[in-house]
Amino acid sequence: PAMQSPAGELISGSSRPHVMFIPSAGMGHLLPFFRVITALATRDDVDVSVVTVLPTVSAAEADHLAGLFSAFPTVRSVDLHLLPFDASEFPGHDPFVLRWESLRRSVHLLGPLISGASPRVSAIVTDVTLTSHVVPIARELGVQCHVLFVSCATMLSLLAYVPVHLSKKAEPGPGVGDVDIPGVQRLPQSYLPQWLLDLNKLFTKQFIDNGREIINADGFLVNTFDALEPVALAALRNGKVIAGFPPVYAIGPLQSQTSATEPDGKQEHTGSPVAWLDEQPARSVVYVAFGNRSAVGRDQLREIAAGLEASGCRFLWVLKTTTVDRDDTAELTDVLGEGFLERVRGRGMVTKAWVDQEAVLRHPSVGLFLSHSGWNSVTEAATAGVPLLAWPRLGDHRVNATVVVSGGVGVWMEHWSWDGEDRLVTGEEIGEKVKEVMSDATVRARAARTSEEAAKAIAEGGTSYRSLQEFIGKLKATQ
Ligand code: UDP
Ligand code: UDP
Repeated sequence: PAMQSPAGELISGSSRPHVMFIPSAGMGHLLPFFRVITALATRDDVDVSVVTVLPTVSAAEADHLAGLFSAFPTVRSVDLHLLPFDASEFPGHDPFVLRWESLRRSVHLLGPLISGASPRVSAIVTDVTLTSHVVPIARELGVQCHVLFVSCATMLSLLAYVPVHLSKKAEPGPGVGDVDIPGVQRLPQSYLPQWLLDLNKLFTKQFIDNGREIINADGFLVNTFDALEPVALAALRNGKVIAGFPPVYAIGPLQSQTSATEPDGKQEHTGSPVAWLDEQPARSVVYVAFGNRSAVGRDQLREIAAGLEASGCRFLWVLKTTTVDRDDTAELTDVLGEGFLERVRGRGMVTKAWVDQEAVLRHPSVGLFLSHSGWNSVTEAATAGVPLLAWPRLGDHRVNATVVVSGGVGVWMEHWSWDGEDRLVTGEEIGEKVKEVMSDATVRARAARTSEEAAKAIAEGGTSYRSLQEFIGKLKATQ
């Protein structure tokens, strides 16, 4: 709003920066955005708006968006209406990657929404999946453009380096090949998102386009912390990966500000996973969850069930059978087989509902997290100090798993199957491993140390705390 200066003249605009966030699809992308949005919205010196696209791909996204706007009424919603998009052009593609593409093709519609916004938009924070389309728009409008990167710094170094790697590659193979990221690590092709094995895949095209454009962003907010990925962060910052790389603000591990944005704040009620955990002994429960978009095949689910049963451990299992939650109509008894739920009654809880994972991981009864190593899950385990047993499935999970190991978050079953391989990991193997890691005091002690480092990073004066302050300072300085 217009204000009066001490001399009585009207000053147009406001001295508060207005940050417009452009998240992308999938809870793994939305939740870290919400965590940064609410961190800024609870300050009184920043205006925040969020580009919202309805309908969302999943029900969880719709619930959480509604939760955000009702809990934080000062956060403005900017509606973006997608242009018609013919998904049949890309048969067999993941619905979330398709939504990224449809967003990319509609993002130019944001130009007028950005330039017409009041108060004037001073900075944009975009999801990485839209970078190559959003950065040029922001530049044209003279607005700063930052990227909130929702995976690890190692993955960011891969994204930055792949275009250079491809331009140097002597023999053009069908895929990206092994990538030796300067100053970071050599990633064998088998660790990369499966899609990068095919240069013609939509994801690969997006990845390369975004990778080329990121050098033109004003900065990167990354949900990691210095003690977790010291090598990758140093290499990005000192120009080893790419000379002149934009500033990297490691501001993690990001935390939810309030359970109000988690629609299942009602979980304290009887029968909820958290209430069930309340009744279990300390560190006795294995928490099993593979994020919001990794569907595990039916045969493999049966083996996981057999493994949990054989382990003799208590367990809380969030089970998903489809990529998109709205499609998941399977009955637990059909999935798990007659009698399973009866046999494990009292010591095992299986749910298909959304659970408040941060609350579960914080719960003292949880002793191990069997996880797909989606990056948010890794950072949440690191915060809680719960050892993570990584069973990567797709996308960035294997790259994340290298950090699980190097950063002391847990252990990685490197030979366990990757999505698309038709090799089952047997119940026997799963049961043995779960038992073994549950009782491994060394792994537990390392996870506890990592969680202390995480707490230090975000506490006042810590590395992530200072990075966020620095970022906010930059928003204000260039207002
Ligand atoms: N999540 C949750 N409850 C669920 C399923 C997922 O709270 O029932 C959260 C989880 O805590 C994490 C995010 O959803 O913050 C999933 O992101 P992640 O990067 O772990 O995996 P993705 O879903 O992207 O594969
Ligand atoms: N990603 C990227 N550039 C892109 C698209 C994706 O760096 O152009 C990253 C993004 O951070 C994502 C990761 O690649 O976390 C793997 O993608 P996946 O489909 O597994 O996404 P997610 O599980 O995060 O939804």
